[in-house]
Amino acid sequence: MKKCWRLKLSKLFFTCLALMFIGQSYALAQYEGVDKDYFTFPIQPDKVNFLSGTMGELRATHFHAGLDIKTNGKQGLNVYAAASGYISRIRVAKGGYGNSIYIKHPNGTSTVYAHLQKFNSELASYVLKRQYEDESFTANYFPQKNEFKFKQGEIIGLSGNSGSSSGPHLHFEIRNSKQEVLDPLRFGFEQIRDEIAPIPLRIALKTMDIESRINGQFGRFEFNLERQGNGFIVKDTIQAFGKIGVEIWAHDKLNGATNRNGIPTIYMSNNGDEVFNQEIDNVNFSSQKQILVHTNFQAQKTTNRRYNKLYIDDGNTLKFYDNKDHGFLFIEENAKNHIGIQMIDTYENERKINFNILGEAINDKITSVISPPKIYSVQDNTLILTREVEDSDLENITIYTKENSRVLGPTYSNQNHHIYLWDLRTGLPDSVNIGNHSMDIMFNTMVPSTSSHSYDNKTYALSFSNKSLFDTTYIQSQHYIENQIEIFELHNQNQPVKNSFGVEIDPLLQYDSLEQHHIFKLNSGKNPSFIGGVWDDGKIKFSVTGPGKYTLMKDEKPPSIKELSRSDTRISFRIQDKQSGIKEFRAEINGEWLLMNYDSKRNLIWSERLDKKKNLKGNFSLTILDNAGNESNLIIKL
Ligand SMILES: [Zn+2]
Repeated sequence: MKKCWRLKLSKLFFTCLALMFIGQSYALAQYEGVDKDYFTFPIQPDKVNFLSGTMGELRATHFHAGLDIKTNGKQGLNVYAAASGYISRIRVAKGGYGNSIYIKHPNGTSTVYAHLQKFNSELASYVLKRQYEDESFTANYFPQKNEFKFKQGEIIGLSGNSGSSSGPHLHFEIRNSKQEVLDPLRFGFEQIRDEIAPIPLRIALKTMDIESRINGQFGRFEFNLERQGNGFIVKDTIQAFGKIGVEIWAHDKLNGATNRNGIPTIYMSNNGDEVFNQEIDNVNFSSQKQILVHTNFQAQKTTNRRYNKLYIDDGNTLKFYDNKDHGFLFIEENAKNHIGIQMIDTYENERKINFNILGEAINDKITSVISPPKIYSVQDNTLILTREVEDSDLENITIYTKENSRVLGPTYSNQNHHIYLWDLRTGLPDSVNIGNHSMDIMFNTMVPSTSSHSYDNKTYALSFSNKSLFDTTYIQSQHYIENQIEIFELHNQNQPVKNSFGVEIDPLLQYDSLEQHHIFKLNSGKNPSFIGGVWDDGKIKFSVTGPGKYTLMKDEKPPSIKELSRSDTRISFRIQDKQSGIKEFRAEINGEWLLMNYDSKRNLIWSERLDKKKNLKGNFSLTILDNAGNESNLIIKL
């Protein structure tokens, strides 16, 4: 009962009860006010099902909002209403959830069914009629309470792969009355089985201020784990001092699938005292961007691994945690710290990781290997400079800021390298003199996260709102010409961008027709992606959400149209625009609007008449517009 007790402590909304489940006893934490047996499984209810995604799973830009239920690579499986209710929303979108249905239930919850191939015939004819009324393929309707009522288990549509789905599956959500997402697995569906405990891959320790050390050094260090019995350990004792953050790279597996899913519950203790807990049981759509501070953004960028921080970093406003000291470890000299991490999935399968940290005295001579990744790097507010040991008399460096210069001795050294730490809050370096050579570092500006900020350079300006960033960010940006191409470059930052910020560029080159030029982001090895921008008085304004190289380009090529098939009642095309991308299209038959369904992943459009029996005869026209304003027209006699 210990686990139940802990869950109860951490979340007042939950009650714990043991639930008999296919001969096994699970202690699923329940949502108060929602009956555990309220919902039935929305697809293949008579079978054991498999998941490719769980609720709360860490994705690159969000916490996954529901279950991704596998459909054996097939489309067209029946999708059933998980409980009685009425259709509160029905959507057709080219990206995102594609074709989706929202059902509102009498107990205040809603269920969502996404990436559908088709709506059931009653809903499909309603949508088709509205699409013709609105003359729009995309649709977002909110029917009245009494319009479409469904009983539990009735077919509402067929599963598919529509929207930004990368393979056939059903995305299924349960939401509470505040439209927050709940974990469907907590309702104990017997169609899903999980007897596999979470699997840790690596941990990382990070110094959280300039005074802290890990094995003598400042920075972020990853450690391998070794299996010991049912748990995992770090073999060697780690030495550390000061304020330390722990991160874990781990996933959960469920029976019968190889997919790496999310771990909702993690605890960390130091010498038996809890220092961190997280429980992802409820996701609010307005805080989805917080994934960028819940995980380590730099590790994600550089290694594509999502490390779950076991500490609450600056700018993190998520409600998953209940911690006194934000989860940080405070390691004192000579103190023995036994760290335990406990990971628990929704089915209460549990995995433990243990390791020891010994408090070490801070020292300017160290024996551990310094692996210099770069000559300089930034971690939070600290600039780290690395230099090879040459002559001990010349070990000082000089840092030049706009205001003055300062001689700096090494913070610590081993026999091969010196490390210099500089607190960026005390001044932004323009250049550094190391031995007899000088290096430009050029930090443009320090941007606070809590107030708006603007930065003006000669040919460009940046503007940040108080909602642009999670934490103080040091910006390095340049505007230059390379191979006769104009480039505005935003270098990798130490912090992720929460919302976008504005850039305004006064072009360095002469352009024949400004209005036809747009901002594109350069992608190595791939086509540039269209960003857009608005011209005003010879300058172009656009917004950016992250680092990269941006340029001005003209897209003069209209979209391509290729007819694929034609019958008495239907015509289909492949439409493409490789430069700026397709913005919109319109088809007409004898001067009347004609619905073209759109599969943007396969660049396909196909006609559908309101009266399906009516032949497609007469004058057909198709107009396609790209994002840069180029237009293609096709007129044919059918
Ligand atoms: Zn999904």
